[in-house]
Amino acid sequence: MDFHIPTAMQLTATMTMIIGLALAFTVKGYPRSLQYPIRLWVRGLLIQPFSYALLSLRGQVPDWLSIVVANTLLAFSFVQLILALRVYNRKAMLLPWMVGIVAVTAIGEAALSFVWPTLYGRIVLMSLVISVLSGLGVRAIYRKGETITRPEHMVATMLIVGIVIMLARILRLPDMGMLSLTGSTPMQGIVFTYASLLPVIATSGFLLMCGDRLNKDLSRLAMLDPLTGVSNRRTMTELANKAIAASKRHGRALSLLILDIDHFKRINDQFGHEAGDLALCRFVQLVREMMRESDVIARLGGEEFVLILPDSDERAALAVAERIRQRLDNSDFSISGWPVPLRASIGVGTLGPEVSNLETLLRETDRAMYEAKRSGRNRVVAVGAMLAQRENVASDSIS
Ligand code: GH3
Ligand code: MG
Ligand code: MG
Repeated sequence: MDFHIPTAMQLTATMTMIIGLALAFTVKGYPRSLQYPIRLWVRGLLIQPFSYALLSLRGQVPDWLSIVVANTLLAFSFVQLILALRVYNRKAMLLPWMVGIVAVTAIGEAALSFVWPTLYGRIVLMSLVISVLSGLGVRAIYRKGETITRPEHMVATMLIVGIVIMLARILRLPDMGMLSLTGSTPMQGIVFTYASLLPVIATSGFLLMCGDRLNKDLSRLAMLDPLTGVSNRRTMTELANKAIAASKRHGRALSLLILDIDHFKRINDQFGHEAGDLALCRFVQLVREMMRESDVIARLGGEEFVLILPDSDERAALAVAERIRQRLDNSDFSISGWPVPLRASIGVGTLGPEVSNLETLLRETDRAMYEAKRSGRNRVVAVGAMLAQRENVASDSIS
């Protein structure tokens, strides 16, 4: 097969440029958190064609352009792709390393062209540079303790194939008698086929990675209350049902608190809706301080919250509720320097023979919370105590 390398390079350059421009055109449609890594990727794609164009002009332009500048640009464009992967996975950019690698490429290529001219030496240097950068990219993808998605495997595999080809190039090149870049050997064929496939396959993989991230972020957002960041009502229902099933299975206790901020409307009326929002966030912060890791807080709506307390009987839950009530009562929340009370009435419900599903638990706990409101606010009422009191009243009226 006759493989005309300069033509292959020019085709690759054109294709990479088109992909880069298309991606640059769409980047604004992505959420902010993804725009920066995509921009870095685009930068890599747009720099690479200049490098290939210069490489393909060997003999027609001065060597410092077609060798030194071309290869430095190639390293620089790879650096952008690797940085994109690192930023995507929230890893440090390792900028001194990246600058160092580009500098070594420039100085090395110049020295191996003009001081000790050797084509093999230059090819070894570039193969090592690309391998090291690809290795850093693979490391950025295979981060510890997280599931790796299929598109991530795809991009990593592409980089690993590159490393293998580069190392093979270093090892096999002298035997192949290839002395000129324009000579077509099987190894050069493999290298440039890879080089033309890389922008297409790796970019598809990277975009699929971004799509996965987008879906993950959206489904996480759909589970949370946008203002306070705690679980929303739907998530609470799911989590509470799971917790109830688990506690029944293992014969363990489970309690629930319903917290309603006292006179919250006054905060809105006196200081405005934004101050009310701030108060809700501070409220969540204060409650979180008093929670265990396994407890779940959710916003039922408005200024009403639920706390799921696994492994807690009524006594334990009452103690937690009382600690939260006191913490809120003693909080020094203020708006524009004015102290603002941030108190709550709390209902405490516990799973039992009569209260055996979420619906009943929520209903009874809500009643207890209203009883706390009715009896003066800033207090804790348990469903058990409330039912006992009702029975007493009933038996008193019979006797
Ligand atoms: P009570 O002590 O009886 O609970 O009185 P309250 O004022 O706390 O309760 P009420 O139900 O009368 O008022 C709740 C207010 O909460 C009314 C509503 O405008 C406000 N609210 C609901 N959601 C939000 C929100 O997301 N942000 C703000 N700032 N206010 C909200
Ligand atoms: Mg209220
Ligand atoms: Mg309310």
